[in-house]
Amino acid sequence: MKIAIYPGSFDPVTSGHLNIIRRAANIFDKLIVCVMVNAGKHTMFTLEERAELIRTVTADIPNVEVDCSGELLAEYARGRGSCVIVKGLRAGSDFENEFQMAMINHKINPDLDTMFLTAEHQYMYMSSSTVKELAAYDVDLSDFLPAQIIPEVKKRVSTIYQGGNRK
Ligand code: ADP
Repeated sequence: MKIAIYPGSFDPVTSGHLNIIRRAANIFDKLIVCVMVNAGKHTMFTLEERAELIRTVTADIPNVEVDCSGELLAEYARGRGSCVIVKGLRAGSDFENEFQMAMINHKINPDLDTMFLTAEHQYMYMSSSTVKELAAYDVDLSDFLPAQIIPEVKKRVSTIYQGGNRK
């Protein structure tokens, strides 16, 4: 059974992430979407909340499992019996950083390879941070976020921001 891991912060999961999840789930027998601890990022949702949002939007994809981890990704993959990491590649800045991460993960765990799926053109410039910025305003988010989670994201953003400013 070919198991792949799709790691990220997913704060929150966007339509761009969901597009990668659906495409990767079509390629592998099982896809584990893993919300990873990233000490460098100040997140709006907790690890478990982010995982729950992903569970909500992937409920119709039977071979997707959602998990959280604070482990090193290469070790987590080994523990889950996976030899493939899936990453989404957007225009511009992703490449250098992702290339470096792929090399490091392969060095730590030589059985582990990284596969890149290029972002669909409509999601090419979309990130969780830009979506959060937009959510602070009265903007239609249906092109950016899966419909089921829009109210929850708007609600959380409204507890933190008023217009573009922190409360
Ligand atoms: P971000 O906070 O920048 O959205 P994440 O850490 O949550 O980033 O992203 C996890 C993975 O999903 C990374 O491989 C990232 O390149 C990819 N990704 C993020 N947004 C998109 C998108 N709009 N289209 C395709 N892949 C994406």
